[in-house]
Amino acid sequence: MQKLISNLTSKVLSQRDISKDEALSLLQVKGSDLFYLFASANSIRQHFRGNKISLCTITNAKSGDCFEDCKFCAQSRYHNTNIAVYPLISVDEMLRRAEQAIRAGTHRFCLVTSGGSLDDKEMDLICEGISRIKNKFPHIKLDASLGKIDYPAAKRLKEAGLNRYNHNLETVPEYFSQICSTHTYRDRLETISILKQAGLEICCGGILGMGENETQRVEFGFILKGLDLDSIALNFLNPIPGTGLAQREPSPALELIKIAAILRFILPDKEIRLCGGREKNLRGLQALAFCAGIDATIIGDYLTTKGNPVKEDLEMLIDLGFSV
Ligand code: SF4
Repeated sequence: MQKLISNLTSKVLSQRDISKDEALSLLQVKGSDLFYLFASANSIRQHFRGNKISLCTITNAKSGDCFEDCKFCAQSRYHNTNIAVYPLISVDEMLRRAEQAIRAGTHRFCLVTSGGSLDDKEMDLICEGISRIKNKFPHIKLDASLGKIDYPAAKRLKEAGLNRYNHNLETVPEYFSQICSTHTYRDRLETISILKQAGLEICCGGILGMGENETQRVEFGFILKGLDLDSIALNFLNPIPGTGLAQREPSPALELIKIAAILRFILPDKEIRLCGGREKNLRGLQALAFCAGIDATIIGDYLTTKGNPVKEDLEMLIDLGFSV
């Protein structure tokens, strides 16, 4: 196995793509060879992405009561989850939360709203918030995740100062209908196409552990590669009580880190960001994921669940020798 891993590492480091079959062969890596795979993915990350870990803070700017039925999500009105429900926060509150995140050391700040999409009045407020945050903190990268969007709204966001838009595909197309029935994979791909036309950077990814198999996880990596994205959002399912996936057993942590490492082989020069679920799924192995090809993470709390204390995450990354 180590010979195979070495050969594929050399191939990637010499700027050549690995094939789907080659990526699938890495799924066979087991036992102590896993650590050889992780170290190899780490060398690819070092070569293409350097030694800096990009930090992003997300904030729930409009929470709950969503009319979509995404099975994993605590914010769907189809689920009984007891989360806080509130309408879009004020522009002053957006600014306050951004300031707090920037003071804590984040590089990116992302406004996230529940719901399939925003109405015009809400979009006006988001644009005003983005423009005010950008004026006050010109160095901060601003992101948003606002659901489905049309071209004029995407253009307005870009003109207001938005750098990047997050819109996840969640899983492979053949599994999507088991995760959501109120919109389609095609809807999601259309939004990504609109974002590209508007010239926004795109962060897109999915959630591992929803019931897809290992082969589908690798295939998902190639779907993301085909979209030529700026950042890959790698979530691990956090099965929240009351959601449609509450009973799902977590995948073994080493299996999830193996997929992260294989994604680095598939997408050597892209940002790969650990997002929701790392604390719950990786537990004591969180540091290992950053030694297996990951070069970005969310810090702080998530939309409806707690994250690690920011100070502890920053200490871990500095202890690992990263620049943050
Ligand atoms: S993931 Fe987004 S669209 Fe789906 S239910 Fe949750 S808030 Fe709604």
